[in-house]
Formats: sequence, C-alpha cells, structure tokens
Amino acid sequence: MRSGLMSVLVDIAAPRSLIGFCVRLLCLMALVWGVYVVQELAFSGVPDGGWITKARPFCITAVPFMAAMLALLGHLRTLQDRLHDMAHTDTLTGLPNRRGFVERAGPAIGRGDVLLALDIDHFKRINDTHGHEAGDRALVRVADALRAQLRDDDLVARLGGEEFVVLLRDLPLDAARAVADRIARGIDVDLAPGLSETLTLSVGLTERVNAIDLPEALRQADLALYRAKADGRARAVVWTPRLTPAIG
Ligand code: GH3
Ligand code: MG
Ligand code: MG
Repeated sequence: MRSGLMSVLVDIAAPRSLIGFCVRLLCLMALVWGVYVVQELAFSGVPDGGWITKARPFCITAVPFMAAMLALLGHLRTLQDRLHDMAHTDTLTGLPNRRGFVERAGPAIGRGDVLLALDIDHFKRINDTHGHEAGDRALVRVADALRAQLRDDDLVARLGGEEFVVLLRDLPLDAARAVADRIARGIDVDLAPGLSETLTLSVGLTERVNAIDLPEALRQADLALYRAKADGRARAVVWTPRLTPAIG
C-alpha cells in the first residue's frame, strides 16, 4: 500500500480527485508566477514602453489561464481513461466485460484461434445454499483459475452472470480441447473459511481455419455450449455445422 505522502504526490501527477486537481492547478500557477517574478527582476532596468511592459498584462492574465486550461485538460484526460476502464471491466472479477472483450479481441478471430464459451453448472445452487456472497467469491475464484490457465496472448472475459468467454490464440484444436476438458472437469473454489467446492463447467468450442466475425464465432461457441448442457454438463463440446438449429 502506498504511504499517504506518496498517494498525494501520485494524485498531483495524475489527478484522480478534485483535491489532486486543485493542488496541481495551484502548483502550475505558482510556477507561472515564479517565472513572472524572475523576469520582473531580470528586466527591471528595461525602460518603460519596452516590449516587456507591453507583454506584462498578457502574462498576468493569459498565462495563468493557459496553465489552468492545461491542468483541466490533464484532469479530463485522466477522467476519460477511468471511465473507459470502468465501462470495459467487470467490477467483481476484474476481467474485461463483454465490451472489453470485443475491444481486445478485435472484429474477428484469427486463423487458428479457438473460442470457448463457458457457463458454470448449477451455479444457482451455490447462491441458494451458501448465499450470494459465497456465490460472488466463487465467481472471483473461477475467474482467477481461468486466468491461470492462459498464456499471455490469450483472452478471458466475463460476459455476464456466471458466463465467461476465452479466446485461445493460435492453438491446435486438440490442445484447446485439452484446456477446455480440464476446465470443464472442475475448478476448486473456497466459498468461505473452511468451505470449498468443486464447480464443473459446460464449455462450447469453435475453431476457424479462416477468420470469421466475432459475433458469428460467439454464436457457434454458444450453440456448442448448449449442447454440452443438454448432454449432461461438466463437458466440452466442439461446434460443427450439424449443431446449427434446423429451420422449420
Ligand atoms: P445451469 O447448469 O443450467 O447453467 O444452471 P445455473 O444454475 O448455473 O443457471 P441459471 O441461469 O439458472 O442460474 C445462474 C445464476 O447465476 C442465477 C443468478 O442468481 C446467478 N448470478 C448471476 N450473476 C451473479 C453474480 O454476480 N453474483 C452471484 N452471486 N450470483 C450471480
Ligand atoms: Mg450456469
Ligand atoms: Mg448461465
């Protein structure tokens, strides 16, 4: 944890609070006035009517105003970054949310990428039996376990509720399937001190030889996930064209 003084200094450098912003503004204005005083002293012998005399009113008004604008712009930029992070991150698990996933994955999954749609089995039971807080804890543990399975280039996100998505970059289907099987078989989670459970997951996989649109890949992975649920849960199913719902 940062010391109090350190937090104040960091807040002044990149203001995240109104107080940090005001302190930064005051520092900038003090700097400007310092420069002004120095030039006053340095050019005190210049005769009246010189260019410095003419520029003085401008210095007094415009320069502090510009300093204030710069400070304000810096503050707005920080706020913008924070809003962007908040809009793209799931607050409970710290994973990207759906918007964050779409942004990071790009419009299409690449040649050789494998997309996994995951849903925790019988998750409602955890909430019903142990309470919502234990359910939240389980979601955080599952998110941590998924993160731990992945390589640096892979992506994991919480799409909502107890549903996650994983993008395995450039991995043969067999290897992706092994990852999916391992996850589906179960993740140990501690729900409360002295209370742990193994949660199984249903997983749908889709792999593309050619890049396809992300929404289509998500649809295919979801279809395979529904099949995994229907076939008894705690398993991974690979999408095939046969899984497309029949029309009519
Ligand atoms: P299935 O095996 O068919 O997926 O059954 P399920 O019980 O997992 O699925 P269902 O959709 O019936 O229930 C999902 C539950 O997830 C319902 C909801 O209360 C719970 N849930 C969704 N979001 C959260 C959350 O943020 N925290 C907690 N604790 N529970 C959540
Ligand atoms: Mg579920
Ligand atoms: Mg669900």
